[in-house]
Amino acid sequence: MYLESLSLTNFRNYVSLELPLGPGTFILWGDNAQGKSNLLEAVYLLATTKSARASNERELIGWGAMDDPLPAARVTGELNRGGEGIRLDVGLVAERGEGVAEGSYSLRKQTRMNGVPRRASDVVGTLNAVMFDPQDVDLVTGPPSSRRRYLDVTISQMNRDYLKALQRYGRVLTQRNHLLRAIREGTSQSSQLRVWDPPLIEEAVNIHLARRRMLDEMKRESTAIYGELTGTAESFELRYLPNPREFSEIEEEDGAAAGDVMRGRLAANVDREIGQGMTVVGPHRDDVQFEVVGRDASLYGSRGQQRTVVAALKLAEVQLLQLNTGEDPILLLDDILSELDETRRRRVLETVLGSEQAILTTTDLDRIDEGLRSRARLIRVEEGRLVGGG
Ligand code: ATP
Ligand code: MG
Repeated sequence: MYLESLSLTNFRNYVSLELPLGPGTFILWGDNAQGKSNLLEAVYLLATTKSARASNERELIGWGAMDDPLPAARVTGELNRGGEGIRLDVGLVAERGEGVAEGSYSLRKQTRMNGVPRRASDVVGTLNAVMFDPQDVDLVTGPPSSRRRYLDVTISQMNRDYLKALQRYGRVLTQRNHLLRAIREGTSQSSQLRVWDPPLIEEAVNIHLARRRMLDEMKRESTAIYGELTGTAESFELRYLPNPREFSEIEEEDGAAAGDVMRGRLAANVDREIGQGMTVVGPHRDDVQFEVVGRDASLYGSRGQQRTVVAALKLAEVQLLQLNTGEDPILLLDDILSELDETRRRRVLETVLGSEQAILTTTDLDRIDEGLRSRARLIRVEEGRLVGGG
């Protein structure tokens, strides 16, 4: 798949941008802080309806628009997916509605497909993108939540039901946690847990099975790619650490057995959960561990090994998306080529050149291999404007 065009309005430092694209490789180049990463972030937003880096999505609205009566940012992409044209829109509106404190806003997000308002969960998976970003080492070194977020974004792109299960699970979890606190404070009865346990168990099992399926494929692909990238016998192992751990002992795809496990763990932990006022059992506590030569790469891996793990995961993700959707994802590479050594760079470049569409950024064109440069379209970015080619 590829974007035919991208347009931005009041998105980050782009006041207004119309960018014609098409199949092939595009290199965005320019000095620091000109808007290269912002443009990749916009494409990522169309894919996931979320920002790859902002913790508060209000940050995405251009500063110049914040004095408008209704500050709003919009990203629109014309996607070509297997020959079909699909128009995707994400709008962000900062509202100073009732009940919102002076000087602050509530953010409303609107997603549309071919002009029709759609829920985010119906849009995610339409445009598939894989982002390569130097900060991705967080995947290895960061907290478990960053690995869960990675799983969620990756699986959501290939499995629509997954995001729905995740959203339902999140809602049930919030309700159940409220109830646990109310029980602790004596304002509710523990028998009321019976209301929330069945949906919690159901969605926990759905999430677990989807993660397990994806991680099995990811493990296979990434182990092979890790070997290619290092060209050595250095072993790499991806290990899913589900919560509850007992999930590992059941047969793959056995939802009924997983349900029994989850029910049993909830029953065994009920006093602890009431004491802590929160649900301590379930996939919101999952983790994934990466081992290089038999040791946890987050603790013992060198920086280079950690980067290689991430590169292997991302390249595996590209293959997984191809396998599961029959479509090539759009590749977004944020200034990463200069970080990789020769072997790794060659492998990433092969993937870039073999993809339907890739968008790369760099501050220095000289650091981009000649072979790639000659086949790419160069776009110079300056203060949120495009100022021609190379
Ligand atoms: P680098 O090479 O350093 O990575 P870059 O070209 O990738 O630079 P971006 O991160 O895309 O830079 O853009 C950063 C610029 O965008 C900064 O000048 C920043 O101040 C500006 N910026 C960020 N958010 C907004 C916003 N909401 N409104 C206007 N400008 C913004
Ligand atoms: Mg950048």
